[in-house]
Amino acid sequence: MLTNLAVRDIETLIHPYTNLATHREVGPLVLERGKGVFVYDVAGKDYIEGMAGLWCTSLGYSNDELCDVAYEQMKKLPFTHIFSGRSHDPAIELAEKLKEIAPIPISKVFYGSAGSDANDTQVKLVWYMNNALGRPQKKKIISRIKGYHGVTVASASLTGLPANHTDFDLPIAGILHTACPYHYRFAEAGETELAFSARLAAELDALIQREGPDTVAAFIAEPVMGAGGAITPPEGYFEAINAVLAKYDILFIADEVITGFGRTGEMFGTTTYGLNADTLSCAKALTSAYFPLSAVLVNEPVYEVLVDQSRKIGTFGHGNTYAGHPVGCAIAVKTLEIYQRDRIVERVRQVSPRFLARLTKLMEHPLVGEARGVGLIGGLELVADKATKQAFDAKKAVAAKSVHFAQEEGVILRAMGGDRVAFCPPLIISEAEIDEMFDRYERALAKTLDWVKAEGLI
Ligand code: PLP
Repeated sequence: MLTNLAVRDIETLIHPYTNLATHREVGPLVLERGKGVFVYDVAGKDYIEGMAGLWCTSLGYSNDELCDVAYEQMKKLPFTHIFSGRSHDPAIELAEKLKEIAPIPISKVFYGSAGSDANDTQVKLVWYMNNALGRPQKKKIISRIKGYHGVTVASASLTGLPANHTDFDLPIAGILHTACPYHYRFAEAGETELAFSARLAAELDALIQREGPDTVAAFIAEPVMGAGGAITPPEGYFEAINAVLAKYDILFIADEVITGFGRTGEMFGTTTYGLNADTLSCAKALTSAYFPLSAVLVNEPVYEVLVDQSRKIGTFGHGNTYAGHPVGCAIAVKTLEIYQRDRIVERVRQVSPRFLARLTKLMEHPLVGEARGVGLIGGLELVADKATKQAFDAKKAVAAKSVHFAQEEGVILRAMGGDRVAFCPPLIISEAEIDEMFDRYERALAKTLDWVKAEGLI
């Protein structure tokens, strides 16, 4: 029986990333409030937010300090843009802090509102820069199959997932996709992680050769693939990729929209996995999701081009109304202050062994083929046959079913293609809450096994 709110939802909303036909039957999960790592629905039922919302509420819910700083900034200066050289203290302070903690040498910061527009900016900067440098043919950008970089026209093109392309007439020209570094699924029989990484780097090299190295401008990658399945890279992967990119003078864009700010047990995933990145996109945990804000961090050579072009063209013709929104920047400054004060990275390292132990223990379950993570992010894959890695029929949506059961048991997780389930709790989660989260999911897995058997899927 759908509640009044559910009916009103169905009559009014188009939900992102939702089967809109099914939604008309099942209705929404309507949440009302949150506290710490818990959220509560309108009936008062509690859920552990095992996905930190969408990989973003790093400091959990109802953080008074973040609410207070937002309110104070709203009262003082709720808005000013930063077009035409206008500025304000929070935007400047945040840029200084980002430069200080960035994992790579950074010259300047460009603000946006979301991960998608940050990556769109990255694409435009690559094109703009290569025109300015007199190499207009060097424009192609390589991303990865199962990579996720957003949904705007350019960033959805970078994304390597079918649902983001099919019938949207994407990807646009000049965006190429190379192999996905998911060892469990894509390695050849007996291939070690190192050998798999070397093969993927050789495939990237061959792709660049085929396209012509002087036509390939940039490569973009998430240190840990998020929406593609919470996939951690195999051993030696980024070392091998770095070497290929360096060989052909290809700019490396690190998409740290999920991995930035402690998620992997370092402040940035770039450090965890040794990406030789030139520029970086971040968002989400930048404000602990208390405000939509993203940032593109660029190095000095990129910045110099923008200055030269401004001299020539008369302006840098790019930017959104809400770029550097004072409330967002004030919240981000406070968020970064809390990360530092509360030693959030150390905290992640402290609880990560418990998180990873509970995650990998799930491999004892008959349906779990692989479970792996880093810091406080991880994923698992559900399979029909562990010995042969036989997948379930995708139409049966077994991972989605397990996430449905997880919701019944009071933990919010996310199912993704290839029957993967992601875990990405707020960074403030305690060991006891980690145990509770996995206890709840284990009960959901037991229900999933019963259902799979009842459906005759194994
Ligand atoms: N890049 C990565 C790695 C992401 O995970 C996401 C969103 O999940 C994006 C970009 C897009 O960010 P947004 O949804 O804020 O546009």
